[in-house]
Amino acid sequence: MSPSDQTAQPVAPDAPAPRSHRRLVVISVDAMSVVDVPFARTLPNFARILAGGWGSAEAIYPTVTYPNHTSQTTARTVDGHGIYANEQVQVGERRPDWFWDARDITCPTIFDLAAHKGLTSASVGWPVTGWSPSIDIAVPEIWDTAGLEPTLAVLREAASPRGRSYVDRHAGEIGWDTKHRFGRFNTSVAVDMIRTDQPDVLFVHLVDVDSARHSTGRFTDEVREAFERVDGWIGEILDALTESGVSEDTNVAIVSDHGHVEVGRCFRANHLLVQEGLVRLDEDGQVASWDAWVHGCGLTGQLHLNPAADDSTRERVLALIEEWVQDPEIPVEAFHPLADMREDYGYDGPFIGILEGTSGTNFQNLWDGRSLYGRFDPDYTFLLSQHGHLPEQDIQAVFAMAGPDIEPGVKFSRCTVPDEAATFAHLLGLEFPEADGTPVTQILRVPAQV
Ligand SMILES: [Zn+2]
Repeated sequence: MSPSDQTAQPVAPDAPAPRSHRRLVVISVDAMSVVDVPFARTLPNFARILAGGWGSAEAIYPTVTYPNHTSQTTARTVDGHGIYANEQVQVGERRPDWFWDARDITCPTIFDLAAHKGLTSASVGWPVTGWSPSIDIAVPEIWDTAGLEPTLAVLREAASPRGRSYVDRHAGEIGWDTKHRFGRFNTSVAVDMIRTDQPDVLFVHLVDVDSARHSTGRFTDEVREAFERVDGWIGEILDALTESGVSEDTNVAIVSDHGHVEVGRCFRANHLLVQEGLVRLDEDGQVASWDAWVHGCGLTGQLHLNPAADDSTRERVLALIEEWVQDPEIPVEAFHPLADMREDYGYDGPFIGILEGTSGTNFQNLWDGRSLYGRFDPDYTFLLSQHGHLPEQDIQAVFAMAGPDIEPGVKFSRCTVPDEAATFAHLLGLEFPEADGTPVTQILRVPAQV
């Protein structure tokens, strides 16, 4: 259970229930925060959704994309759904695979519940939906870490059979410059899905705001342009609902997954572990063997201990980490043992604890070069803003909804990201067997008294 002063309440017996099985469209605007709302309200299509109910949503720890997007489809924190990072732990891999595979999720998703009830579902660019056993039309987020060219093949492979036809129809709209750009593609696929298949449940992920923040900073012209671009795409999706005659019957949500913090430095903890002999390299500088490894998770690092390590190695590693926390030259502010993370944040995984960096410290998995790259060093070529920090240390994400079951003009104070999934399930008449969130009842329309 994630901590918060959330005001969402369990559903009371007399809580307003959806009048029928409405459709649901969830649009994730990755890295949108509550401080973006005043600007977003000046944009026509964000304004249409923000005119319904909205408020802040506290992310789960770690405040990174894949764990939070999985909470938005499961109502669970990491100890429930199992997606503990964006990237898988692949020691010595410079570009590890991400958690693309839906079969890595360890609890039921809203797509599983929908399938069980006979509702049709679709997803576009939504994290951890590859090879989904339940999504009727899935075009997941996935790429080939080796480069641009093979990505289309892995995207087709991870898509559902019906999703593949959408990939083929719209592949020309994937942006191919220095990295993949899926925003235009994802929007066209979503619009096509609404017009062609009219799924009961549709989840869409748009990452342009997040990408602009990483590369240019939290509040820049590029970020504003990304918001304007995303607003146009939201408009296309809303227009497709209208043109398909289902707008009156569809609840639409805008969600996000975390805010951003300015990066002051990049920290390669594994470089220090090499110097300590706890990571050993071969003659080519590649990792040959290891006792301890720090898996970067944005502004935090997961401390992994080789399962074969003995007690004395464990004690040595923990003593070293304590030295790091005490050393003002090393940007590690605290070490949180795993037991505390489970208790306080529902954060669990195959690590022994979490390194929390000093403010603005981005953890990298790499081990070569040097341990610290300052923002103003001449060879600093990395991210300018990042996330992954403790959830309460930042401006919060946004949760907004509009539609037939949503009371217009409601502002609630705060919910959590798992609450969003609980709300979606409630609106669809579905029930999670276990949940760390509860529906945000404040935004639900009170039925007219007869
Ligand atoms: Zn994100």
